[in-house]
Amino acid sequence: MFDMPDYDGHEAVHWFHDAATGYRGLVAIHDTTLGPACGGTRMWAYAGADAALTDALRLSRGMSYKNAMADLPLGGGKAVILGDARTQKSPALMRAHGRAVESLAGRYVTAMDVGMSEADMETISAVTRHVAGFAQKGRTGGDPSPMTAWGVFCGIRAAAKAGLGTDDLKGVRVAVQGVGNVGFDTARHLKAAGAILTVADVNEANLRRAAETLDAAVAATDAIHAAEADIFAPCALGAILNDATIPQIRARVVAGAANNQLAVPAVHGAMLAGRGILYAPDYVINGGGIIRVCGQIYDWSDEAIRARTERIGATLAEIFAAAKAEGRPTHEVADAIARGRIAAARRQKAA
Ligand code: NAD
Repeated sequence: MFDMPDYDGHEAVHWFHDAATGYRGLVAIHDTTLGPACGGTRMWAYAGADAALTDALRLSRGMSYKNAMADLPLGGGKAVILGDARTQKSPALMRAHGRAVESLAGRYVTAMDVGMSEADMETISAVTRHVAGFAQKGRTGGDPSPMTAWGVFCGIRAAAKAGLGTDDLKGVRVAVQGVGNVGFDTARHLKAAGAILTVADVNEANLRRAAETLDAAVAATDAIHAAEADIFAPCALGAILNDATIPQIRARVVAGAANNQLAVPAVHGAMLAGRGILYAPDYVINGGGIIRVCGQIYDWSDEAIRARTERIGATLAEIFAAAKAEGRPTHEVADAIARGRIAAARRQKAA
C-alpha cells in the first residue's frame, strides 16, 4: 500500500472480514487532524482488493479536502464494501459493516454513498452510533440533498460574480445537467432568482417535472454541456469535463453539484482555465451535504448549518481571486488551500 500512487500518507487502513456473512470491507482514514474521519460507505463490485483499496485511498483523501474546505471539525475517511449491491447485500451484511465501523470507536463516522440506501443506514445504526446523513429518531438532520442544492445555488451566485461580473441571476442562462435530488432543487432556487433554465436528464419523469414546474427548455442529454448558456451546471455524472466536452462548452462558468467532474483534474482543470472558463471546484461547491451530515454528528441547529453552507460562496470567491492572481487553475488552488488548512491545524496541535 505504501508504494501505491494513491497512497498519500494515510493514517490508517483497516480491513474487515466476517465469516458468517462473507462481508469484506475496508475503512481508509486519510487524516484526523481536523476531527474524526468522515465520509460515506460505498458498496461496489470491485475487480479485486487492490481496486477497492485504490478507490478508498482516493476517496478518503478527497473527503479530507472537502471537509477542510467546508471548514468542518471533521477529517477525511471512506469505507468500501466489496460486493454487488444489487445481489449481495443483506441486513446481516450491513450489520457486519456496522460492527466494523463501531470497532473504530468513533475515529471514523460513516454516511451514505453509491450502493447504499436509507434502509441500509438504519440497519447499520442498530449496531453503531458512528453513522450520520439520514433521518434518525432523536437527532437533527436527514437527507443532505436540499442543503447540497442550497450550497450549489450560493456557489453559482459567487461564480457568476467572478465569471460574469454580476451575482444577480435575473436573465442569466443556466444549463442544468441532471435534475434529480440536487439538480432539481438547485434549478428551483435558480428559477426563483430569475435565471432562464435549460435542462437535460435521462430520466423522463425528472425531466418532465423540471420542464413543467420551472418553465425550463429541454436539451438532449448529449448536448446540454454545449447549450447556449452563461453557466453550465453539471448535476448528474462524474468525468463530464473531458477532452470531448470542454471544447464544446459555450458557457463562461461551470458550477454544479456532481462529484469528480474533471475527468483528469491536472489535464482538464488546466484545459478549462486555458479556454477562459471559470470552474467552481466540485468538492467545494457541493459541500452543503457534508455540512448537513456534520451538523447531525454535532447536533447543530438548522440555522447554523444554513449559515455555514452559505459561506461556500465566500470560500469560492477566495479561490477565484487567488486563481486569478496566481494564474493557476481553480481546482489546484482549492487543493492547496485545503492542504494548507490541514497543515496549519496540525502545527497548532503540535505547538
Ligand atoms: P440523483 O440520482 O437524485 O440525480 C441525478 C440525476 O441525473 C438523475 O435525475 C439522473 O436521471 C440524471 N442523469 C443520470 N445520467 C444522466 C445523463 N447522462 N445526462 C443527464 N442526466 C443524467 O443524484 P443527486 O443526489 O441529485 O446527486 C447528483 C450529483 O451530485 C452526483 O454526482 C452526486 O455525487 C453529487 N452530490 C450529491 C450530494 C447530495 O447531497 N445528494 C452531495 C454532494 C454531491
